[in-house]
Amino acid sequence: MISQNSIDTVITSADIVREVERAGVKLTRSGTTLKGCCPFHDEKTASFTVNEKNQFFHCFGCGTGGNVVTFTMKKYNRTFVEAIKQLASNYSITLEETKTEPKDVEKEKETELLKDVYKRTAQYYIGRLHGKASEYALSRFSEKTLQIFKIGYAPDEWQGLWNHLLNECRMPESLLIKSDLFRQNKNGGYYDFFRNRLMFPIFDRVGDVIAFSGRIMPSITQLTDESQPKYLNSSESILYKKKEVLFGLNFAIPAIRKYDVCIVVEGNADVVKLHQLKITNTVAACGTALSAEHIKTISRYTKNICLLYDCDKAGLEATHKNALKIIEAGLNCSVLRIPDTGDGTKQDPDSYFRSEKQFADDYTRYTLRTLYTQSIYCAASIFPNLQTNEMDVFDIYFKKLLENEL
Ligand SMILES: [Zn+2]
Repeated sequence: MISQNSIDTVITSADIVREVERAGVKLTRSGTTLKGCCPFHDEKTASFTVNEKNQFFHCFGCGTGGNVVTFTMKKYNRTFVEAIKQLASNYSITLEETKTEPKDVEKEKETELLKDVYKRTAQYYIGRLHGKASEYALSRFSEKTLQIFKIGYAPDEWQGLWNHLLNECRMPESLLIKSDLFRQNKNGGYYDFFRNRLMFPIFDRVGDVIAFSGRIMPSITQLTDESQPKYLNSSESILYKKKEVLFGLNFAIPAIRKYDVCIVVEGNADVVKLHQLKITNTVAACGTALSAEHIKTISRYTKNICLLYDCDKAGLEATHKNALKIIEAGLNCSVLRIPDTGDGTKQDPDSYFRSEKQFADDYTRYTLRTLYTQSIYCAASIFPNLQTNEMDVFDIYFKKLLENEL
């Protein structure tokens, strides 16, 4: 196995422009991008573009796109490992090999088994989405969206999923216990962790289900359940590292590359809603603050992050904190604030945005496009010890920036 370190070295050393030209594509510069005739489909007018700064290519004719490794794989019909080896030789990089330990093989086996549990669980939740739960889901999302995001319903039963996986799927009890989908009761028995919730599977980058996030459904939840949190998420596991996983990323990568900006929202429902409105370059950190790892992951696809958080104090605080983190990581940060309706109702992107056009209009009108390094440091220097109760001051600063923008 080639070490991750070596793979990273190859990816950062190999230059996409050199590789595309090496493959015989004639490129001409226009602004920040280079253009040429696509090597993957027949064309006479150039629709193949190479972005040198962000090191990716995209063809507007056939939709092919990716980084230098993807290009090498597609152009020469290579596997990932073969492409890495070819590029390493082009740039005289010596690849380190790591031995495959028996414990790695075991870990890989467990990973596969757990993925199977989650896959079947997602299917079970989809199968249970009917009646009131289905009505609720369809009042928020289209049928097509529910299918794409594999949204389902965890029924209000103590052992619905447990019995299904154990008896119908014939899965071993020991594996179910490891899956984090169940909790043990006082008598040693197990019960379903997610109950009476709208279920969003959390996918890894290739689209395998690795965890779940369950959202409360206010209109069909009994009054006694009011104390429950809005979202209930899976705990960390060998598959699911909260600090690394971004909800929606598996669907968002092509659009993030295409538009060269990643929109980060707070909740899973916000991601789903925006994707439904064709704003597909949207992701969320699942039930946690945006971490340095999240930002690093996004930076593989774009250097521009746009924060779009709820229109309340908590949302504003999160915007402030995360904007600083993004800028510290050397990326550009912009902020899209949902306008305050002034009637005291809390707005989030999920409930606020109604159409792609409205989003586009607001994006043009309200995004603080200039809130890059300089402005945010300016904000930080004006309010060096910004505390929670001073967030209003920060809001005024945001509004001032907005006024200047308009
Ligand atoms: Zn093409």
